[in-house]
Amino acid sequence: MREVKHFINGEFVGSASGKLFDNINPATGQKIGIVHEAGAPEVDAAVTAAQAALQGDWGKMPLAERADLLHKLADGITARFDEFLEAECLDTGKPQKLACHIDIPRGAANFKVFADVVKNVPTESFMLDTPDGAGALNYSLRKPKGVIAVISPWNLPLLLMTWKVGPALACGNTVVVKPSEETPFTTALLGEVMNEVGIPKGVYNVIHGFGPNSAGEFLTRHKGVDGITFTGETGTGSAIMKAAADDITDISFELGGKNPAIVFADCDMDKAIEGTLRSAFANCGQVCLGTERVYVERPVYDAFVSRLKAGTENLKLGKWDDPETDMGPLISQEHREKVLSYYQKAVDEGGTVVTGGGTPEMSADLAQGAWVEPTIWTGLSDDAACVREEIFGPCCHIRPFDTEEEAIELANSTEYGLATAIWTENVSRAHRVAGRIDAGIVWVNSWFLRDLRTPFGGAKQSGIGREGGVHSLEFYTELKNICIKL
Ligand code: NAD
Repeated sequence: MREVKHFINGEFVGSASGKLFDNINPATGQKIGIVHEAGAPEVDAAVTAAQAALQGDWGKMPLAERADLLHKLADGITARFDEFLEAECLDTGKPQKLACHIDIPRGAANFKVFADVVKNVPTESFMLDTPDGAGALNYSLRKPKGVIAVISPWNLPLLLMTWKVGPALACGNTVVVKPSEETPFTTALLGEVMNEVGIPKGVYNVIHGFGPNSAGEFLTRHKGVDGITFTGETGTGSAIMKAAADDITDISFELGGKNPAIVFADCDMDKAIEGTLRSAFANCGQVCLGTERVYVERPVYDAFVSRLKAGTENLKLGKWDDPETDMGPLISQEHREKVLSYYQKAVDEGGTVVTGGGTPEMSADLAQGAWVEPTIWTGLSDDAACVREEIFGPCCHIRPFDTEEEAIELANSTEYGLATAIWTENVSRAHRVAGRIDAGIVWVNSWFLRDLRTPFGGAKQSGIGREGGVHSLEFYTELKNICIKL
């Protein structure tokens, strides 16, 4: 049983209120930890420590030294790889096959990538003509924004948290992180690595707890916070935006999605099937970029449905440490109820269940876990709830289309705009269609292939702003222009 405390000013501390909550392994339903819940005093202490660190060694540290420390931090995660892996898998139930390729290595890489980006970004300079003929020189400087509140979700806990903490620290900010209440382990573990590699006290702070009227809301309403970066549901983004409005605090949002895949008849069918199996079912469908709507050109529709069905029925559900496991459970019983309610709605709305649609038979030790079957539907109308609303489970609806124009229209007919996957071997079509998709990220013949230097974020209700590469600097720094009259 782990006891998870806050990490404030370089030390692990409990809550003054003594409030605790349980941490459950979603694969077994067993309690695996107790977590301290932060109240206003802990949030205040964390923000104060973060403010003080800006004035101390961290604020004065040369960029090269800061970047070196972030490289050491990444190496420190890698040195304790197995501990991070186990913590992440116990917290989420996800298979180690996934986490050892994505969550932990990418969680570490985020520190190196942004340390290197920040070292290599120029700022701009303009000469201005003036009436006296002497001119003026403008140049800009980037300064850290200050104390950044990082609020992260449970689906890729370490990866999505360091995706924000990496650039924040690389730019010279300090952070207060509020991880999801479902997945506190790796964010806490990272505190130990911070101390091991010598990151100054107060640079990285963690407070645990829930959203409304708990650690999350206290943090977003704290007057000492200079920017809020958030990944999570669109509805939560709206609540945080309201909290941020009081003090005009800057925000960066990565929100929900209802992502389409478009499969053209000229695709490489093997690639399209393999890619869609991943995009619909990886991480038990709990990936913001995941595919929940699949549009398939009519001549290959039947073949696609039957091959995706066969692939889905081959997925092995099981324990995180079984190397054969393809899919773990959902994050919680609460989320399972939500996903199962959509499974019911699909039937009520007249859909055909191609495969799945219920709960699987698991072994006795996993019987209390949050398991659901990977599920495919066909035959739902375009306005069905399962076609319009983000479910965030291992499920997708497949619908045929006849023309390229129709496919684009269907893909774009959503209030979200995060990601789209296009499957075609026709290069002209790939460019033509990709350009017309209303989303922040379009993949052609791949999915979740991420170059961390590229912009990442959502259009429409899927987010505000872009992070990744130099784009992260837009949020994590204040750009200041200096104008010198010559
Ligand atoms: P969530 O919005 O329920 O919670 C995210 C975080 O916000 C948690 O730490 C939670 O405690 C906190 N929170 C909740 N209410 C709050 C409030 N009022 N004030 C401050 N903090 C609050 O999201 P989730 O269920 O953890 O994650 C799943 C969602 O995240 C899905 O909608 C998914 O699409 C989205 N997501 C988006 C991306 C992306 O990059 N666009 C990536 C991953 C997940």
